Amino acid sequence: MPAPPPALPESHFTTLFLDLNSYFASVEQQLNPALRGRPVAVIPVETDTTCCIAASYEAKAYGVKTGTNVAEARRMCPGIVFVSTRTDAYVRFHHRIIAAVESVLPVHQVFSIDEMSCRLVGSQQHPEAALALARCVKEVIYSRVGECLRCSIGLATNRFLAKLAADMQKPDGLVTISRADLPHKILGLVPRDLCGIGPRMEERLRRRGITTMAHLLALDERAMVDAWGSVVGLRYHRWLRGDDPQEAPTRKRSIGHQHVMPPELRTADGARAVLARLIHKAAARSRHVGWLARKMTIWIKFHGGGDWSIDIPLESSVDTLELIHLFTDRWPPTLSGVPHCVGVTLHDLEKEDLIPLPLFPQEQKRQKLARAMDSLNNKYGLHAIYPAAMHTTRDAAPARIGFTSIPDLDMPE
Ligand SMILES: [Mg+2]
Repeated sequence: MPAPPPALPESHFTTLFLDLNSYFASVEQQLNPALRGRPVAVIPVETDTTCCIAASYEAKAYGVKTGTNVAEARRMCPGIVFVSTRTDAYVRFHHRIIAAVESVLPVHQVFSIDEMSCRLVGSQQHPEAALALARCVKEVIYSRVGECLRCSIGLATNRFLAKLAADMQKPDGLVTISRADLPHKILGLVPRDLCGIGPRMEERLRRRGITTMAHLLALDERAMVDAWGSVVGLRYHRWLRGDDPQEAPTRKRSIGHQHVMPPELRTADGARAVLARLIHKAAARSRHVGWLARKMTIWIKFHGGGDWSIDIPLESSVDTLELIHLFTDRWPPTLSGVPHCVGVTLHDLEKEDLIPLPLFPQEQKRQKLARAMDSLNNKYGLHAIYPAAMHTTRDAAPARIGFTSIPDLDMPE
C-alpha cells in the first residue's frame, strides 16, 4: 500500500537523533588526558576475569569491543589500558551533555545514557538548517563538555530512521535520511541493522526468507504484521517509509496498584513488604505489555487521616529488583501514622521497542532476570518466583490479575 502523502517536503527532517561514540571510554579519556589517543577499555570494578564493557576507538581499531574478555583484549591490543567503570562520572557527563544540547535544541526524549533525540520544527526542518543545527550540537558538546566527546547524529523524518542514520557513520558521523533518500539509502543494510531486530527476530525473518532490506521493504503492511506477529510490524512498515506513526493518544499511560492493609500488616514493616509486592505486580504488568516507566509514585494513607508519598524518577525501567532497591533507599526511617492503605503507580509509560537495552551489564542482567521471572510466573502463577523483599506478604494482596487478562487496563492492541 502506498504511503500517505508526505506532510512535509521530501527533503526535510523532523528528528535529530544523537548517539555518543564510545561513551564510557570517551568520558575516561576526557577525565584523564594520559588516556587520550590510546586504546582504552572500561571494565567492571569487581573482577579481573571479566569482559570489557566499553572500548575507545583506538581499542576498537584492534577489534576490542563490548563483551571482549580482558585476557583476549590484552592479546589483541598489547598496549591497551584498562580502567574501572565509574558510573557516577558517566551520569554526571550525561547531564552535562543534555544541558549542552539544550542550549541548541530542546531534548525531546532520552533513550539511554548516551542516546537522545530532538524534534525539529518549522524552519529547522529545512535540510540546510537541520544540518547546521546538527553541527552546532556537535560543537557545543565538544566545546562545553569536552573535546573527547564525539557523537554521531542522524537526521530523518522519524526517530527510528534518525537512529538508523546515526548508526550508519561512527565515530563523529552526520548522516541524513530524507524521504527522497528512501529506499535506496537503506537498501545496503541488513534487517539486523534496524533498531529492535535482534538475533531472535532476525532468525524469525530468516525463516520467512527475509534476509535483505529489499526483502523486508517488499512486504506489504499485512505481511509485516504477520512477520512480527503483532502490529509492531505495521509500525516498522511505516517507519521504513519515512512516516512517523503517532501512538493513539487515548492509551493509558500509567499502571497502578493499591491495597488496603489487613490489620496484622498495619506496621511500617508490613507496609513496606506490601509495597514491594505491589511494585513487583505493577512492574510485571508493565513488562508484559512492553511498556517502560519514567516515574514511580509510592504512597501511604494513614489510619485516621494523613498520608506520605514520594515520586521516584526512573531511567525507563520496569525492572522489579531495581524498583524495589530505589524504593527501599527512599523508605523513611519512621512513619508518621498507622498505615491503612498503600499504593504504587508507574507513570509516563512508553513503548519499549525504541528503547535500547541498558548499557550497564548489571542492568542488562537484571532486565534478563526480570523477564525470566515473568516467564516462570506466567507459566506457574504470579508467585512462583518473586523478590525476597515481599516474602512475608506473598498472599497479603491477592493477585486478582493474570497476565493474559488485565481487566482494569486500557491496553493497546
Ligand atoms: Mg553510543
